[in-house]
Amino acid sequence: MRVLLALGGNAMTNAGRARPEDQIGAAEVAMAAVASMLEQDVDVVITHGNGPQVGNLLVKNEVAAAVVPPVPLDWCGAQTQGTLGFVLMDALDVELARRGVDRRTAAVVTRALVDAADSGFAKPTKPIGRFLPADEAAVMQEHGQVWEDRGEKGWRRVVASPEPLEILDAAAVRALVDAGFVVIANGGGGIPVVRDPDGRLRGVEAVIDKDLGAALLARTVAADVLVIGTDVPNAVLRYGTPEAESLGAVTVAELRGYAAEGHFASGSMGPKVDAACRFVEQGGTRAVITDLDHLAAAIAGDAGTVVVPT
Ligand code: ADP
Ligand code: MG
Repeated sequence: MRVLLALGGNAMTNAGRARPEDQIGAAEVAMAAVASMLEQDVDVVITHGNGPQVGNLLVKNEVAAAVVPPVPLDWCGAQTQGTLGFVLMDALDVELARRGVDRRTAAVVTRALVDAADSGFAKPTKPIGRFLPADEAAVMQEHGQVWEDRGEKGWRRVVASPEPLEILDAAAVRALVDAGFVVIANGGGGIPVVRDPDGRLRGVEAVIDKDLGAALLARTVAADVLVIGTDVPNAVLRYGTPEAESLGAVTVAELRGYAAEGHFASGSMGPKVDAACRFVEQGGTRAVITDLDHLAAAIAGDAGTVVVPT
């Protein structure tokens, strides 16, 4: 069986702090959960969020702009794939050795193709980075960035969040997983690139949704199961109300219906539900949304919100 595991930034980041030792500590906790999954006889490809890490790089960009040229968002994506890939491999290697699981790990810098005509570029909607006061936001706008007035909290940068069309480095991921590696790939949804008319690939200022990137990668590497690991054990109907109800096994059609009724917030649970539905609609055996404590059970569909074809 082949599993695509998508780990959320929240499941991997210690609340509040982002010192390297905090991030390493969070990676160790997450990789201990992943190692319990790897004790079973399954191929695993891991993808991960990078929101908090890119947020930190953007602050460095802003603070150091007069000294070091700011780097574009696609570079931030590549940098976080490299750093998180390294941190996760280190943490996973230790856990696997401790459990006597003989597996090797690899991380692949992964590009995802998007359409230069994606509507997100004309009308960016995805908020990223920190809030700034109006005068500081104005300086960044002079650099061509789009910022929005968010009232009391200040101004926030918005960028395109285009649909991922193709995971360009999927063949490398497949070759490694076929050879027995545990592969970390397509972090942050993939480095967004467009193909110019002359065939050349070019990185773009955008962020791809990590969960939608995961669904596409899962299909491309022929995964049987998509596990979306986050910080809640289930998707919930009427979330945050006294009538909240955790979802267990659910069919794609039922889940699509709940989504249409507005049960899942667009910036958080919404894309996970969409990714889970897409994966199963396109032939996946099941998709599971759950937290780190339930990863091992999730493979067999014994925990979390389990999305099945019928
Ligand atoms: P990740 O970093 O894993 O992508 P997100 O913060 O994007 O995490 O999404 C997980 C969060 O979604 C949960 O912590 C929860 O607060 C929120 N959420 C919104 N709507 C729902 C819902 N209907 N059921 C469960 N969680 C929900
Ligand atoms: Mg998220």
